[in-house]
Amino acid sequence: MKISSCLFLLLLIFAQNNVASAQMIDTGYNGKIKMYTTDARFLPESVLNLEISTSVPSPEKYFGNIIGAPGVMHTAREIYGYYQQLAASSPNLQMNRVSTTEEGRPIYQVVVASKETQQQLEQQKKQLALLADPRKITAAEADKIIQTTKPVFYLNAGLHSPEMGSPEMLMELAYRLITSSSPAIRAILNQVVVVINPVAEPDGRDKQVDWYYRYTKSRNTFDDGFPRSSPYWGKYVYHDNNRDGIQVSQALTNAIFQMYYEWHPTVMLDLHESVPLIYMSTGTGPYNETIDPITIGEWQVMANHDITTLAAQGLPGAFTWAFYDGWYPGYGIWVANNHNSIGRFYETFGNAGANTYMRDLTDSKYAGDAVTSREWYRPDPATPLVNWSSRNNINYMQAGVLASLTYTADNARQLLKNFYQKGLNNIQRGKKDKPGCFVIPYAQKDPSMVAFLIKQLRKQQIEVHQVDTGKQKNDYVILLDQPYRNLAVSLLTKQSFPKEAKFPPYDDIAWTMGYLYGVTVKQEDSVSFSRGNLKPVSDPVVYKGNISGAGTQYLLKYSAQQKVLAAAYAIQKNNPSVKQQILAEKWVFAAGKDSALAGSIYWEGLSKEDAQAIAQQFGLDLQQVSAIPNAIKRNVMKLPRVGIYHTWYNTQDEGWARYTFEQMGVPYVSLQKDDLKRGDLNSRLDVILIPRTGGSASDFINEIDSRFGPMPYTKTEAFPSHGYPDSTNDMTGGPGFAGMAQLRLFVEKGGLLISLDNSTRIMAETGLADGLDIYDASGLFHPGSIVMAKVRQTGSPVLNGFPASFPIFRGNGPLLQVKKYDRGKMLLQYGNKPLKDEVEYDGPIMGVPAKGKGKEEAKSTPDVPYLVSGMVRNEATIIGQGAIFQVPVGKGALIGFTFDPLHRFLNLHDAPLVWNCLMNWEQLIGKQ
Ligand SMILES: [Zn+2]
Repeated sequence: MKISSCLFLLLLIFAQNNVASAQMIDTGYNGKIKMYTTDARFLPESVLNLEISTSVPSPEKYFGNIIGAPGVMHTAREIYGYYQQLAASSPNLQMNRVSTTEEGRPIYQVVVASKETQQQLEQQKKQLALLADPRKITAAEADKIIQTTKPVFYLNAGLHSPEMGSPEMLMELAYRLITSSSPAIRAILNQVVVVINPVAEPDGRDKQVDWYYRYTKSRNTFDDGFPRSSPYWGKYVYHDNNRDGIQVSQALTNAIFQMYYEWHPTVMLDLHESVPLIYMSTGTGPYNETIDPITIGEWQVMANHDITTLAAQGLPGAFTWAFYDGWYPGYGIWVANNHNSIGRFYETFGNAGANTYMRDLTDSKYAGDAVTSREWYRPDPATPLVNWSSRNNINYMQAGVLASLTYTADNARQLLKNFYQKGLNNIQRGKKDKPGCFVIPYAQKDPSMVAFLIKQLRKQQIEVHQVDTGKQKNDYVILLDQPYRNLAVSLLTKQSFPKEAKFPPYDDIAWTMGYLYGVTVKQEDSVSFSRGNLKPVSDPVVYKGNISGAGTQYLLKYSAQQKVLAAAYAIQKNNPSVKQQILAEKWVFAAGKDSALAGSIYWEGLSKEDAQAIAQQFGLDLQQVSAIPNAIKRNVMKLPRVGIYHTWYNTQDEGWARYTFEQMGVPYVSLQKDDLKRGDLNSRLDVILIPRTGGSASDFINEIDSRFGPMPYTKTEAFPSHGYPDSTNDMTGGPGFAGMAQLRLFVEKGGLLISLDNSTRIMAETGLADGLDIYDASGLFHPGSIVMAKVRQTGSPVLNGFPASFPIFRGNGPLLQVKKYDRGKMLLQYGNKPLKDEVEYDGPIMGVPAKGKGKEEAKSTPDVPYLVSGMVRNEATIIGQGAIFQVPVGKGALIGFTFDPLHRFLNLHDAPLVWNCLMNWEQLIGKQ
């Protein structure tokens, strides 16, 4: 070939390439990205250059705007609609429905991978499931699988509704992955399976998008006091939707778990928004003690890789380490950490919408240092003021995700090998470390809670066996030579958060399931059962109660079983003629051979069929007995009409309360400020429950500033997702003094008010809890832990079914106190030692003859440690203080808890304290 023709050919190739790329890059899109990015330093190279596809519509083509355009946010339906379009036009993407939310919206997952990989997904899943359980394969087989399997990268978006950017960003990322010809993107598409949960909380997404268009889009400054979030996200759960990984109670969590188990993703990355400008998780520690060191190393390597990649593109303000700890295992991403994968998250700076705002970072501090300070973990901090746009947020998040996807593609074998190795490590530790196994006795005070515990363990895919000798089924056994051994140990043993930890924990620090559920779990050093007698539990475990004894009436020996109140409501509904009574004292029967304690339930007129149905449905053991003698004191159980109150500024815990009531079959109505103002509460309600709510007394009375009002939260044609689960024509202004007066009147006229945790302080401060004063426990630091409480008023029906001393779950809620002469109002105290002023004086007393020494032995209380699981600093300041108070108010009463017995559907052991208040409300107001 002649030189000239050779040159010509080269020129031709060059020209063609040039023309080809010039045609393919979407320069219009690029131009808008640049226009909407507020500073060239906030624009990484990796998010430019989307290509024009002839078959696949870009976000701009589909929506009419690029992603991150000012003033634009999309609903869940619109987002799924776009993915549907991508799936229809590209062989590299598919979308499948996973499940349905509480409000009926679909939850979909999107799978992005090359056309060839898409055809092998079932094989992929099988191989990953084998790696997840090293017992099923040899080392050689594992090696082969590692060589032929693609890592799965699971992206979770929009879990927290006002953190609005990630569901937008992932649409652009998906388009990029399936259309780009760039070698870096092709490498991801060909070597990784990208699973996307486009909108983890669709119910909340739609409420928030409506909120943005209804209210916040028109606001010019960010920090103007206007609420940035819709009052509700899901039907029940707000920000705690990222604290549901132990309970797995909400539809969105079940969907996340389902996707996890379907894929066994190698990496899971959850996209949040809060801190400036982007945080990539490792946490400060202390790290959860049961997490394999490999995972801890992977957190560091991957975070530093991503930070470095952003630095290489010149992005300021990226940091790692100084946020969150890495201790609590119940965040969404911990489904990955708990099951030997890698769970990570980003926090990108966000404006809770698509407005551009001048943001002030001056007061933002993390791990003690200003977010604008240069640190080893933040090499290039942002300026104290930043003009921040929605597109900036999209740029940062996307550049980070692309970096992490590239890391995963480049290190696929190592990551898969680590995943397999962690499973192996678990099994080996299970064989040689202690405990050897856990035994959960079959016969316990509330067998339905035993069944519940087993169900919860199995939701985590922890294997459970049952002793089965052929003749009878018996105790449950958790053998520990299984791939999720560490998780079983974490959930069933005590936590010990280091007292000297440099930073306060990010959340609860204890979760020992046995205590939380009131179920005895025995820790054994070795397995004493013959393996042949252990059968794997594969069907759902449900406890169906039994009926024993003989006689015409029915009795339930009460030990604070969870479902007794639900059973009582069911009986009242179906057989109103049945007389339901609660024993007010111990009844000894069957010629002294049997007895039932106070609090036990006695039914007159219950048919055998109905008794059987109740026993089975509610998992309660009933006993047939002969008629109770008239002399035994008992009260007719008058089931109350219950209202659960919520504010408009904090719906988190009332949501959990509603959820718990519904799960436990206890009917209620929702109440809010409008109901208080309307008054006449006694005609509609017997009991009002005020679940924990944040803020001060002033917040409670005034709620959202009325200068923003009227602020309707109503369903309209334009805002169809609003008005649920409760609605109002004006969210502002609170109940005011008029509403508070009606609440007080409700109690004075014979209502029972129950307040939980911080709400009890609010009741005391607003004068609804006569004689309850604030107690400042100086130096007390009490993050969510399990601690001992002691009964002070034996015989109080609030404590029916509970022993003299028992563990409860308690967080950092405020304490209250009563004067010494009023200590009768204290039903339950923390710890088992008396307050200082209650310690009996045993020195000489003038005017009284000296006592002979040794005549009277001081009654000593056994020294039971206060802390059961978790950590408490300066516990001496809380021991002896009141955990539950009963305060008479007029003809009614307030039962004030200084902890939350309805915490996140976790501490179910404590919930019967609330059920007791409801069952015995007439006794508590002194009516019976
Ligand atoms: Zn978040």
